[in-house]
Amino acid sequence: MTTEFDLVVIGAGSGGVRAARMAASHGASVAIIEERFFGGTCVNVGCVPKKLFSYGSHFPQEFALAEDYGYTVKGWEFDWPTLRDNKSREISRLNGIYQRILNQAGVTIFEGHGQVLGGGKVSVGETVLTARHILVAVGGKPFVPDLPGREHVRISDDLFYLDTLPKRVAVVGGGYIATEFAGILHGLGCQVTQVYRGALFLRGFDQDIREFIAEQMKEQGVTLKFNADVASVEAINGEKHVNYQGGEQAVFDEVFYATGRIPKLDDLFAEGAAPAMTEGGAIKVDDGFATSVEGLYALGDVIDRVQLTPVALAEGMWLAAQLYGEHKPEAAMDYHNIATAVFSHPNIGTVGLTEEQALARVPAVRVYKSAFRPMRYTLGDKQERSLIKLIVDDATDKVLGLHMAGEDSAEITQGFAVAIKMGATKADFDATVGIHPTAAEELVTLRQAVLVTA
Ligand SMILES: Cc1cc2nc3c(=O)[nH]c(=O)nc-3n(C[C@H](O)[C@H](O)[C@H](O)COP(=O)(O)OP(=O)(O)OC[C@H]3O[C@@H](n4cnc5c(N)ncnc54)[C@H](O)[C@@H]3O)c2cc1C
Repeated sequence: MTTEFDLVVIGAGSGGVRAARMAASHGASVAIIEERFFGGTCVNVGCVPKKLFSYGSHFPQEFALAEDYGYTVKGWEFDWPTLRDNKSREISRLNGIYQRILNQAGVTIFEGHGQVLGGGKVSVGETVLTARHILVAVGGKPFVPDLPGREHVRISDDLFYLDTLPKRVAVVGGGYIATEFAGILHGLGCQVTQVYRGALFLRGFDQDIREFIAEQMKEQGVTLKFNADVASVEAINGEKHVNYQGGEQAVFDEVFYATGRIPKLDDLFAEGAAPAMTEGGAIKVDDGFATSVEGLYALGDVIDRVQLTPVALAEGMWLAAQLYGEHKPEAAMDYHNIATAVFSHPNIGTVGLTEEQALARVPAVRVYKSAFRPMRYTLGDKQERSLIKLIVDDATDKVLGLHMAGEDSAEITQGFAVAIKMGATKADFDATVGIHPTAAEELVTLRQAVLVTA
């Protein structure tokens, strides 16, 4: 078997698989090394299983709603192992697909731990591979702060394989993963407390959206414990006792920590082979994903720019085209106006600047807002609501940001992201005839603005 390649990729996750496939399609000889699971975080312990669980967690709400439409839904039960195992079967199918895609693209697969040795060499077990270019796409791993009782808490990966679904759960963290987990576990029937040390979760998202989601979650019955710091966790008689700073205590069956992710650099570089790092501990790269070591590249979560699968995919394609493509990219990768979603209950969809970010760049913005009850809920007394918000540069009329919380927000935002990426103005939105009756039409019928200045 050959051990010499044009490109060796370490990590068969979102970015690595895409870069390997595209490089091979441009004619490069490519090897990829994977130590854990094909498809990486997103497929195995991230976006995909999470979204499947999110779908699963909506059924009780749907059963209740069905009654407003005249159905009698009696005696339903939920079997956690069925959801967990059906999910795992689907993930195994996807693992197989990822391996097949790589094989079909002519990429040589090595299973095991990859280590960069320096001098264009990478080891995987006893085998040493040589390459002109080496790409590190090893992703990240959950970060749990060093606290007494750390061994008693679980991380996001664990949720996907739990033997039994706990009754009382604490989800510690205020980011999107913690918020999604809180919604999923609550939907599946757990009593959930989301614990966050800040005053309001989802930092970085638009303030109105953050407040709206907090309100909606509280109304659904999730306990939001903000301004709370966990001092220690004890395991007593199978229960987890959480001791907060300040002395307060609470008892749960499980405590999940979703307090951020850090680059997965474990044993990745042999002594003297590591490139320069950022202050935050990620691999430092330039606009072309080149590290400080000649021939060594990095992308995806390990460079900690935007930790999203479509971003890692785009970076992988960009680099493959740059290194081996006939047509090189004309410009550096564009990180502006990346649409994203939070699969909280309800969903959030967002693209562009928040009101706060917009005001840091332009002197005045027009803010259009609408809060409404989706039509689906109007036959009963369900109080689910949606909020949409458009931020427009007052001087140029350009739409700088679109934020939505509520049913189908993620799906709706994707389409509008194209318009915003193209530089749509509020006048363009106004000139678009809506689709009636939909929630999305609200976005092209917003008329009342508030002028906000910096
Ligand atoms: C719970 C959760 C939910 C998420 N939800 C979303 C979402 O809804 N939408 C979204 O866009 N993103 C989501 N993400 C983020 C997304 O999963 C990541 O941004 C994406 O997977 C990053 O891709 P990557 O290629 O950088 O790394 P990864 O996909 O993590 O792949 C890295 C691969 O490298 C392997 N590896 C690591 N070290 C070595 C080594 N030394 N040798 C060999 N192999 C190695 C790993 O096993 C892994 O397979 C979520 C993440 C989590 C944790």
